[in-house]
Amino acid sequence: MRSNVYPTRETLTRGLRGDSTCPRCRLGAETISHVSGVCGALKGPRLARHNKICDLVAKEAVDHGWSVSVEPSYIINGSRLIPDLVFSRPEKVVVVDVTIRLEQGDALKEAALEKMRKYRPLEQLLLQEFNWPVEVHGLPIGACGAWCRPASLALDALGIKDESFQRLLSRTSLICTYNMLRD
Ligand SMILES: [Zn+2]
Repeated sequence: MRSNVYPTRETLTRGLRGDSTCPRCRLGAETISHVSGVCGALKGPRLARHNKICDLVAKEAVDHGWSVSVEPSYIINGSRLIPDLVFSRPEKVVVVDVTIRLEQGDALKEAALEKMRKYRPLEQLLLQEFNWPVEVHGLPIGACGAWCRPASLALDALGIKDESFQRLLSRTSLICTYNMLRD
């Protein structure tokens, strides 16, 4: 999948006259990128994949002594911000927003920066609420299971250093994406 040789209609019909159209939405070629990130008919499975990762991270963090708020809603300068997870534990608050992206080029690193920029305005507000230092992290995971340093940093912030947990997140993402391609 990661080298784009998984047999989607687009790769199977390359150079042939077959139909490469996505059979789910009929609105684009059936590439891994389309299925994983774009296809309108797969919004449900895409959300389920995202939520599965969030649930795993939340549970692991609770086991590490964190309290967790799931999708808390904040209004800052008139606009609403809803990060996936806000963790708190005496002396520290960690905001984590999960995103699953196809691992092409710098997509995962860029996703982490994008999330950090988006949620950084929460720092001041949460500092006032908890009076503890606040860290904001994106947690990007490759749709085909790739792992990146920003994801390690997000888990480090929660004191989760277990490599088998990283592998669990990678594998969960990969399996969900595989199921989306197969179904
Ligand atoms: Zn489609």
